[in-house]
Amino acid sequence: MALVVQKYGGTSVADADRICSVARRIVDTYSEPNDVVAVVSAMGTGTDDLIALAEAVSDRSHPREMDMLLTAGERVTMALVAMAIQDLGVPATSLTGSQAGILTTGRHGRAEIVEIRANRVREGLDEGKVVIVAGFQGVDPDSKDVTTLGRGGSDATAVALAAALSADRCEIYTDVDGVFTADPRVVPGALKIDEVSFEEMLELASGGAGVLMPRSVEFGRRFGIPIHVRSSFHDGEGTWVKEETMEQAVVRGIAHDISEAKLTVYRVPDTPGVAASLFEPLADAGVTIDMIVQNVSQEGSTDISFTVPLAMLDVAEEVTKTVAEDVNAGGVSTDREIAKVSIVGIGMKTESGIASRMFRILADHDINIQMISTSPIRISCVIAEDRVSEAVSALHAGLELDGEALQ
Ligand code: ADP
Ligand code: ASP
Ligand code: MG
Repeated sequence: MALVVQKYGGTSVADADRICSVARRIVDTYSEPNDVVAVVSAMGTGTDDLIALAEAVSDRSHPREMDMLLTAGERVTMALVAMAIQDLGVPATSLTGSQAGILTTGRHGRAEIVEIRANRVREGLDEGKVVIVAGFQGVDPDSKDVTTLGRGGSDATAVALAAALSADRCEIYTDVDGVFTADPRVVPGALKIDEVSFEEMLELASGGAGVLMPRSVEFGRRFGIPIHVRSSFHDGEGTWVKEETMEQAVVRGIAHDISEAKLTVYRVPDTPGVAASLFEPLADAGVTIDMIVQNVSQEGSTDISFTVPLAMLDVAEEVTKTVAEDVNAGGVSTDREIAKVSIVGIGMKTESGIASRMFRILADHDINIQMISTSPIRISCVIAEDRVSEAVSALHAGLELDGEALQ
């Protein structure tokens, strides 16, 4: 008998009817027959609603209590799904992340899975039960406090569990038919991709393609678990995220991200150690930096711009202003209204001229590029946030994305 790990996202379990249809889908898989572990997210906008509630109660940061609060969202779903499955005549049991043995670091809100002691999950399966696991959460074995894995973390729960249990299949059920050439909410003509490599998916996910959490793709790659991203509303084949794909697209997809802000430090002395004196304290404060651009030195000083998640902007600004004063820089400016647009494809490793095509398309639309960064298979540009939909659509049309390799 095969072991299948399935994950159902928030929209897929948004109300009682959908929970019942998810239960039926799980029962169908169980009846094939298979062993089934189902990871579930909070219902609909449940996590956002809990965050809003916390913000209404307190404007301070309460990392431990926030995790206690947010883990409740997934806990509601797991119990309801287990009830619905039992009502269909199939034994089912629900487990919190902690009960499922998901051990994490202690960093509240952004904990990382370090180990899964899946014996309770295995016991449930051995007893012939469907095991429902609350996504997005674990426990820090040192403090014994519950933790959350960051937004979209149920994807990571599912793939990590699939690896720990040596599952035969890992299926991510969501509200779209698979991974598309661009966010279908932004580009209605975006096309479903049949196959995408881990390497490309990691770049797309890190570039803002919210359909999979980047860490889930990392787990898939590290443990060799192919991930099938598919619709929870029908049985059609979705997208396979795997090591190798049949075709090597030059541009596989376009991602965009409006969740970052740009900080610029003006007239920083152009001397050794200045970048270290800025980025060390930012790292110590837990700020993750994405792009960094340092301008050409003029009269012994230079400007440095970098992007940070909006969620970390307050602390990043504070640290940056302190450092700017310490090194006698000219000042600091903040731009919240930026967006990052990335084009990704493994064929870029060998094909030249893709960057210039991207820049030409943006230029033809009079869209200014503020920052550029590249990897061997990705080109990203920072642009004004209010131009992002236009930029993604123009790139999608201009690069003739069709899931086929560009000629
Ligand atoms: P879930 O609740 O199932 O985890 P998410 O909202 O996290 O669902 O992810 C699915 C959403 O990701 C889609 O509704 C879509 O708008 C968005 N998305 C962004 N980029 C892409 C892409 N390239 N392909 C598919 N969906 C994408
Ligand atoms: N409920 C969590 C979130 O909204 C985790 C998830 O859905 O994957 O981020
Ligand atoms: Mg998600």
